[in-house]
Amino acid sequence: MNADVVIVGGGPVGLVIALYLARHGVDVVLLEVELETAKEQRGAAFHPPTLEMLDELGITEAILPRGVKVPVWQVRDRAGVVAEFDLGLLRDETGYPYRFHMPQHILSDVLVDRLRATSAQVLHGHRVVGVTTQAQGAEIRFLDREGHEQTLRARWIVGADGAHSLVRKQSGIEFPGFSWPERFLVTNVTQPLEACGFSGAAYVGDPDQWAVVLKLSDHRYQDLWRVAMAADPDLPDDQLLGPAAVQARLQQIMPGHGPFDVVYSNTYRVHQRVAQQFRKGCLLLAGDAAHINNPLGGFGLNGGVHDAFNLSRRLVEVIRQGGAEDGLDLYGRQRHYVAVEHVQAQSIRNKKQMEERDPVRRAEQAALLRATASDKERARQYLMETSMINSVRRAAEIT
Ligand SMILES: Cc1cc2nc3c(=O)[nH]c(=O)nc-3n(C[C@H](O)[C@H](O)[C@H](O)COP(=O)(O)OP(=O)(O)OC[C@H]3O[C@@H](n4cnc5c(N)ncnc54)[C@H](O)[C@@H]3O)c2cc1C
Repeated sequence: MNADVVIVGGGPVGLVIALYLARHGVDVVLLEVELETAKEQRGAAFHPPTLEMLDELGITEAILPRGVKVPVWQVRDRAGVVAEFDLGLLRDETGYPYRFHMPQHILSDVLVDRLRATSAQVLHGHRVVGVTTQAQGAEIRFLDREGHEQTLRARWIVGADGAHSLVRKQSGIEFPGFSWPERFLVTNVTQPLEACGFSGAAYVGDPDQWAVVLKLSDHRYQDLWRVAMAADPDLPDDQLLGPAAVQARLQQIMPGHGPFDVVYSNTYRVHQRVAQQFRKGCLLLAGDAAHINNPLGGFGLNGGVHDAFNLSRRLVEVIRQGGAEDGLDLYGRQRHYVAVEHVQAQSIRNKKQMEERDPVRRAEQAALLRATASDKERARQYLMETSMINSVRRAAEIT
């Protein structure tokens, strides 16, 4: 056996698992096809339980100076604020009563750096091309940096290889769900939107022009905000991403606040899928390999990190402490429950609420949100759900 654990994929989820395992004396190899961390715009919102977990590895204090704390988030329509929620209400529940915004690649870079001080082998530029399970463990075939095929054997394989996971496909685990017809258009603008009344996170509901507006931090700009919107499914990217088209969309969503200085724009497709099982023998799935969802609520990256901690603790119990392998089935049950009952349910509900067409239902939704926000206990309960604290606690109750 070459390693106790081989991790396929060096995104944030695979890297967290590698660091946790290495720090607990597990022999681990991580194979990542890219030569370095991808810098594309992806997850940027960290919820309180994620910061608590990362603190166990000493990562939270390293990332907090690199991003922005957002204690208050808003639900808006295009006319203005509908309701505001202050995470300060959760002060008794968490040491991190705020959302924290920072591009996820910064987390990945910090993790890679910390892994250098461990015995873990983190091999960038290595593409896994096949996984064959055996009586005890599996054989992993991969292409090294020179394109030569090599093999490794490990007792446990973790597929943290993203939405198109080869580990999941080769294991024959189904990935049921659906894809939304429209693409999402993501932009970065440098306007000082706080001066326009936006708190650091705002969900702007509208049947056609809904948007998510998030404050980011980047030393190159005094102000940097991500504005994500629905893109017309019938238009090709070159039309959607033309400067005039992007400018027009931004002006529709935030009339009177332009013209906007747009420093990034891109489109991407969004899906709702959960793997049928997260463990099959020695194969384990985590992060986007196991579940994907729309970004409304910021659950994808956070849920993946929560998988990473749950799975890592159980692997340490099995490998280092003689624990029963059933613990790995429990990982699957707990995190599958969260993916379906919390993340899928909430992210789909968020999207439907933001794009609700029926004016009566929109008004009812707005009234309910205002009533929730103005009652301290109801607001606290709502924040417990949306900050993912409840999902982590409920998962822990599953035996
Ligand atoms: C535009 C966008 C916005 C998002 N916004 C948010 C947000 O605000 N909040 C939030 O919580 N989440 C958000 N997400 C989701 C978040 O980015 C993902 O959930 C997160 O990246 C999952 O991490 P991961 O490590 O599981 O997978 P990934 O980050 O996809 O990493 C998988 C890694 O595996 C590697 N790999 C794949 N195949 C192989 C192979 N055969 N061999 C070796 N390596 C391989 C890939 O190169 C990659 O590095 C967003 C996603 C997108 C696309």
